[in-house]
Amino acid sequence: MSAVTGDWRAEVPAVAARLAQAKRVAVITGAGMSADSGLPTYRGIGGLYNDIEVEQNMPIEDILHAYTLARNPALTWKYIAQIGRACRGAGPNDGHRVLAGWDNRFETWVITQNVDGFHRQAGSRNVIEMHGNLSRCYCCACRAAFSDEALDLEVLPPRCAQCDGLVRPDVVLFGEMLPEVALSNYEREIVRGFDVLLAIGTTAGFPYIAEPMLRARRAGAVTVEINPDQTVLSNAVTHRLAGRARDVLLALDAALAEV
Ligand SMILES: [Zn+2]
Repeated sequence: MSAVTGDWRAEVPAVAARLAQAKRVAVITGAGMSADSGLPTYRGIGGLYNDIEVEQNMPIEDILHAYTLARNPALTWKYIAQIGRACRGAGPNDGHRVLAGWDNRFETWVITQNVDGFHRQAGSRNVIEMHGNLSRCYCCACRAAFSDEALDLEVLPPRCAQCDGLVRPDVVLFGEMLPEVALSNYEREIVRGFDVLLAIGTTAGFPYIAEPMLRARRAGAVTVEINPDQTVLSNAVTHRLAGRARDVLLALDAALAEV
C-alpha cells in the first residue's frame, strides 16, 4: 500500500527490474514533471498556472476558458503571454532527459498534459501532447500557423498578419475538447498495450488517464505512480513512489543501468 513519504527509494529496485524486462512503456506526465524545470507548480491548462494575481476576482479557469477567449481575448491572452514567458525562461530538466534516454532501451511513449514542449526539447521521440503546445499558435479565421516567437505581443490579442483574424495558442482551454489527433494516437497506443505504465506528477483527475491505468493493471501490466501527493490512483497502482519526478527518475535510471 502507499507509503506516504520518504520510503520511495525502497521501491526503486523493483520498478527498475520491471522496466528492464519491458518492451513497451507508457509515461503519462503532468505538472509535477515540469516543477523541477523552474516553472511554478501550475494548474489550469495542461497544468499551467499558479499564483499569478487574477483580476476581477475571476477564477483562472474562467480566464483560460474558450468562452472568455471569444468575448474578451485580450484578458485570456494576458495570462497566456505570462505563461509563455515562464516557459521560454525554463527548459527540460534531468527527469525529461532520463525519459528521452529510455527511447534507447525500450519503446517509450510519452503522453503529456503539459503544454511547455519540454519532452520534445529533451529529445523524446514518441510524444503525444494531449493539451497542445503553447509555442504553436494559429489564426482562428484562416488557420495560418505562427510560432509564439513570431507574434507581436505588445498589443493583445495578437492578430493574423494575413487576415487580421484572432490568433490563439494551440492548447486546450477550459471548455474545449481534447485534440482529435492526439486522442486517437493515444487510444491506438493503449490498444497496442504496454508492459509498464507510469503516471508522473499528474493528479490523474482526467478519466482518460486513470481508466487506462486501471484497465492495464487488471490486464496484467505493471502500473507505477510517481507523485509526492496522493491521487485517485495512489491506492490502485502496482508501485507507488511518493517523491518528486526528477529525483525518482534519476534514481530509477541509475538502478536500471545496474539491472
Ligand atoms: Zn488569418
